[in-house]
Amino acid sequence: MSLPAVNLDQDHSAWLYGPEALCRVGPRPQVNDPRRLVLLGPPGAGKGTLAANLQEAFGTCPLSTGDILRAAPTQPGAAQIQTPAMRAALDAMRRGELVPDKLMLDLVRERIGCLRCRGGFVLDGFPRTRTQAEALEEMLHAQDVQLDAVICLEVPTEVVVERVSGRRNCPVCGALYHLKFRPPRHRGICDLCQVGLVQREDDRDEAIRAQIAAYEHAAGEILAFYEERRLLVRVRADGTPLEARDHVLDALTARTVRPF
Ligand code: AMP
Repeated sequence: MSLPAVNLDQDHSAWLYGPEALCRVGPRPQVNDPRRLVLLGPPGAGKGTLAANLQEAFGTCPLSTGDILRAAPTQPGAAQIQTPAMRAALDAMRRGELVPDKLMLDLVRERIGCLRCRGGFVLDGFPRTRTQAEALEEMLHAQDVQLDAVICLEVPTEVVVERVSGRRNCPVCGALYHLKFRPPRHRGICDLCQVGLVQREDDRDEAIRAQIAAYEHAAGEILAFYEERRLLVRVRADGTPLEARDHVLDALTARTVRPF
């Protein structure tokens, strides 16, 4: 499927670092019909890649709550501004557990302006509990915006574990590799920087299994919540990223032409 690329030159400073950090967004076209989507699915379902592919297709800003937590230690002055709550959240993340709702909701509320982004958005990794889903509904209502759809990516657990445990990234340039699907030219070494690749702490085997268990524990309630609101779209995501993207685009088109 060929799609017009929409380059909105977005950075995500306001999302990653909070409202005081402005996004460096140059003049950009107004999107007539901004998409507002939520991605659900276990870790390794491909939500991040899909969010990037949807950004290319629709200009939607990808908003990942995991990215906020991962960016916290790299923020200028991180040592001073890391509160005990944030340190506890980062510990929970390292163990693969969910961060408490209160902190996640505070982090998202601080960034509520991103939910009004002119380009629309794709929320990746939020909401993860019914409490978060209810709070998001209120936040969107207060901003006078509505979700278009909640996309649930469906992938078998063994596929998820193989995908996630093989991920490696370069600590210098951030390039992403996979031991099986995207290996570097020389084992364990970044093609670009020639430094040793590392594994994200939350990609380790025990952490992945804990994340899958946490996802499955909460998923039933969230899926029911969005099913009741007729927003849920289930999409198979056990193939390639482009296949998943096309399934999503087809499903969204089908929703547009066949309203409930
Ligand atoms: P992700 O990048 O979405 O897989 O998130 C990585 C980790 O960040 C998760 O395993 C959780 O520890 C934490 N996290 C991210 N988003 C949330 C959320 N909405 N609620 C609770 N914990 C979260």
